[in-house]
Amino acid sequence: MLNGSVVSKGIGIGIAKVVSSQGSEVMSAEEFMSAISGMKPGAVLVASHLTPYMVGMLKEYSISGIVCETGGMASHSALAAKSMGIPAVYDVAGATKEIADGDTVIVDGSSGYVYERPDSDIVAGYTVKRKKYLADLEELKGYRNLKTVMADGTECSIVCNASDILSVMHVIDEGGEGIGLFRTENLLSGEGRIPDEEEQTRVYSRIVSAMKGKEVIVRTLDIGGDKNMPFLNLEKEDNPFLGYRGVRCSLGHRDIFTTQLRAILRASAGGKMSIMIPMVTCVEEMRNIKSLIHEIKTDLRDEGFEFDDDIKVGATIETPSAAIMADALARECDFFSIGTNDLIQYVMSADRGNSRVAYLQSVTQPSILRLIKHTIDSAKAAGIEVSVCGEAASDPEVVPILAGFGCRKFSVNPLSVSEVRRTLSEWTVADAEGLAYDILKIPVDQEIRDHIHKIYKDRKS
Ligand code: PEP
Ligand code: MG
Repeated sequence: MLNGSVVSKGIGIGIAKVVSSQGSEVMSAEEFMSAISGMKPGAVLVASHLTPYMVGMLKEYSISGIVCETGGMASHSALAAKSMGIPAVYDVAGATKEIADGDTVIVDGSSGYVYERPDSDIVAGYTVKRKKYLADLEELKGYRNLKTVMADGTECSIVCNASDILSVMHVIDEGGEGIGLFRTENLLSGEGRIPDEEEQTRVYSRIVSAMKGKEVIVRTLDIGGDKNMPFLNLEKEDNPFLGYRGVRCSLGHRDIFTTQLRAILRASAGGKMSIMIPMVTCVEEMRNIKSLIHEIKTDLRDEGFEFDDDIKVGATIETPSAAIMADALARECDFFSIGTNDLIQYVMSADRGNSRVAYLQSVTQPSILRLIKHTIDSAKAAGIEVSVCGEAASDPEVVPILAGFGCRKFSVNPLSVSEVRRTLSEWTVADAEGLAYDILKIPVDQEIRDHIHKIYKDRKS
């Protein structure tokens, strides 16, 4: 048996298709496409490395699981696998050596176990587990079109993370109450060039109209880190996650940024939109952006375009500096959304795509929990809305803690809407606050997890 990081729940049983880059060089998209051609439906893909783009290519193959040797549970590749609902385990050392093409493989996306050539008892056990998992998914369907209400009647909202038109359809199907994070990197890189203002306005308008009056928060381009747009020919950096990423790149490429902001503003005439800025570290950045948006609004008005003059402009709180400065930033922002994926990587100094430091990438690290609490407290004190849009908001073990800190808005993967809604329905605010109070006193990640498990077990019995 092999094991790795849990990425996407569910149990996949199938025949292995092994794709190895044979060395340190990552395969090109073309090489990957030719390597997976002929892969049978129901196969389990075993790969040495997967970029988000490669995961997107798997849509056509209806595979039953993914095992990847590298990645990290919060890498954008892992998030793509999760959003497609494919059971997946990443960071599985030696997978492409231990597993051969044609082997039967079981991927347990809940425990992180991967069984190569399992015996008949293990297959029988997992067939039963898979049935139970599918039955739970059926039960969860009952939560799709319910309101999100905690056990004491406190209302919450569950919005979704989306990145393309197809995922917007998933948001609607799964009962999401809006889009809390629309990542625009995929949308704007598909053609090998940045779409012009008219094209972007059309896409944003389509999303807003599909959401029929529900809120759509569009995050401006977050290029850099593990997301590159090769056609922009950006300088290669030694530390891309600490470099020219997100708002820094946008402020440096005014033409691209202005086009995107004009398009979002124009689309805001047709529905409820907000603008979210990624990778903010300081108050100056928000001030610069607000004055740029002010200038753009003046131009649009002069040109006779309609837009929502009250459009909200907020920040993703995902850097240590932003979280520490949340009280001051709250005075510059209309809302916050806490990006736990990056917050964890930056606070713990642990690259979100590096399997060797995956053990540090945990939202229940006390430092992370304290910063989340400080951010929520600061937003509340300033009277602005706060949500959590990182993967932590989709984790049913963590959701009660976030609720205990005062979070009432969760932006999750569409496939997690019902599960998070059910979890919230099982907790009162008082119980969630009690849990949050207790865990803030515990200084060790694993002890916090043990405490949570004990509380959950006691509540179930
Ligand atoms: C985050 O960092 O938590 C986040 C939501 O953004 P992304 O995963 O796209 O970096
Ligand atoms: Mg981020």
